[in-house]
Amino acid sequence: MVRTAINLVRLQTPLRAVKTCAECGVVKSVDKFHLHPNCCQGVEPMCKLCRRKKAKTWSASNPGKQAEYAARYRDRHPEYKERENARRRALTEENPGRYSEVSKARYYKNKAEYFARNVIRRGIVKQQTPRWADMKAIAAFYAACPPGYHVDHVIPLRGKTVNGLHVLENLQYLPAHENMRKHNRLTD
Ligand SMILES: [Zn+2]
Repeated sequence: MVRTAINLVRLQTPLRAVKTCAECGVVKSVDKFHLHPNCCQGVEPMCKLCRRKKAKTWSASNPGKQAEYAARYRDRHPEYKERENARRRALTEENPGRYSEVSKARYYKNKAEYFARNVIRRGIVKQQTPRWADMKAIAAFYAACPPGYHVDHVIPLRGKTVNGLHVLENLQYLPAHENMRKHNRLTD
């Protein structure tokens, strides 16, 4: 409904399809502004570029706020998660391989961070490996992991309530996507 109203406003003002940005003062065509039903010409006073810059400075000076608001939104809209999942699933089906490309790009960009995390991870694994652990059996278990599965610790090495051991008895195969969802939570 709102959109139709905005389109009507645009149709009625074809000669003034430009607007001066209240922030940078540059005259731009109205499609360089975000839509806003209550503002002059149906678009926001500041251009998209300025809006983005403002949002960036805001989130820089309010660390954690954005995540907090997002979490609050998710709490208030339980249907959001399902909708978002469906949207992502559709995107992946439409363009298979895109997400692996995205995560590959992210990996190369944050390589140092990944390495640091791996070092910590290795330390944790070492700490949680008792002297009696059968390393050969563990290695064989990892080697036999079927494609599409991850080796998972039934009791997480760094669980919220208890720390699991890196021993054969605590290992299981889990479909990769389920494992990534599990994090350090104990399921059932
Ligand atoms: Zn601007």
